[in-house]
Amino acid sequence: MWRSLDKQFGIDLGTCNTLIYQKGRGIVLREPSLIAVNKETGQIEAYGEQAYAMIGRTPRSIEVIYPLQGGVIANYHMTTSMLQHYIRKVLGGPGWFQRASAVISVPCGVTNVNKRAAQQTMIHKGAKGAATVEEPLAAALGAGLPFYEPVGSMLIDIGGGTTQIAILSLGGIVTSYTLPRGGLAIDETIVEYMKKTYNLAIGFRTAEDIKIRAGALPDKDRQSGTLEVRGNDQVDGLPRTINLDLHEITKLLDDFIFELIDAIRVTLEKCPPELAGDVMERGIMMCGGGALLAGLDKRLQEETSIPFFLAEQPMECVAIGAGRLIANENAQVNRWWKEKLGFQ
Ligand code: ADP
Ligand code: MG
Repeated sequence: MWRSLDKQFGIDLGTCNTLIYQKGRGIVLREPSLIAVNKETGQIEAYGEQAYAMIGRTPRSIEVIYPLQGGVIANYHMTTSMLQHYIRKVLGGPGWFQRASAVISVPCGVTNVNKRAAQQTMIHKGAKGAATVEEPLAAALGAGLPFYEPVGSMLIDIGGGTTQIAILSLGGIVTSYTLPRGGLAIDETIVEYMKKTYNLAIGFRTAEDIKIRAGALPDKDRQSGTLEVRGNDQVDGLPRTINLDLHEITKLLDDFIFELIDAIRVTLEKCPPELAGDVMERGIMMCGGGALLAGLDKRLQEETSIPFFLAEQPMECVAIGAGRLIANENAQVNRWWKEKLGFQ
């Protein structure tokens, strides 16, 4: 019996990161959703962390790809291989398929075809069962929001490819809005800016580092500071280092922040006034890697006059929530997910 119990997984299959929660053990895997493929032979050369280390450093024959885009599976074969690799890693060997079952998170409002594709990544290989759960629901459960009560909770999940905003009440999603932009779009903006302003070509990993260092503090709280950035001069092609003022980057984030504020407003307008009232009073929970942007909560609070707070484990709450669903940690959850998830 214990064997089947400990093969129950909650899986957050994100555009940037894959997290796996195992019943009885908690978060057991945290790796980038990345694969390095040999273009000539089609063979997979590396997964996750190893593939991440290769970004911008591969020979021509190897390509590093994200098999998920905008939160949905863009390459089914690659996603299945990646997940299989990760679950084997967690269990320490092959032979996991027959007894494993999983709840896999999918973005809010995706089609049934997308949901089925996510389920099939497990079932295709012979797993006992798989179901999907929409990310905001999993995040709310994982973060311990009052999920089943008749009060409105709002949460914002800023991932790599998308930002999902949702208002929940009584165990369901009342309104949601998905912005097709997240952390990766900010990195792209930084790459473009460095090209245009300094004629400097930088890689995406450097752009991500710059973003994390710069943060999103409100103007008056911004610390002045510079960051040494290395790249290639676009004119002569030679390596060059510049001292970048972090203020410039924080300003670059403004477009994203204002877009986010608009999206929050639209979502609040669409929801019943009682629930909007709850949100104004109780605040908005932020999760996802993008929510870690230093000072973002403070900045949004100043711009909207709504309290914002960070989930306790912003990058883990989706996987934890999906794990709680499959692990049936309480009877209420048990009933709920059997009805709603359509476990197969
Ligand atoms: P997904 O659910 O799409 O896989 P994640 O929730 O894992 O995405 O978040 C990934 C995004 O979070 C990336 O764009 C990454 O750059 C960003 N991120 C991670 N840590 C930080 C940080 N400390 N500050 C700002 N952004 C961060
Ligand atoms: Mg996510």
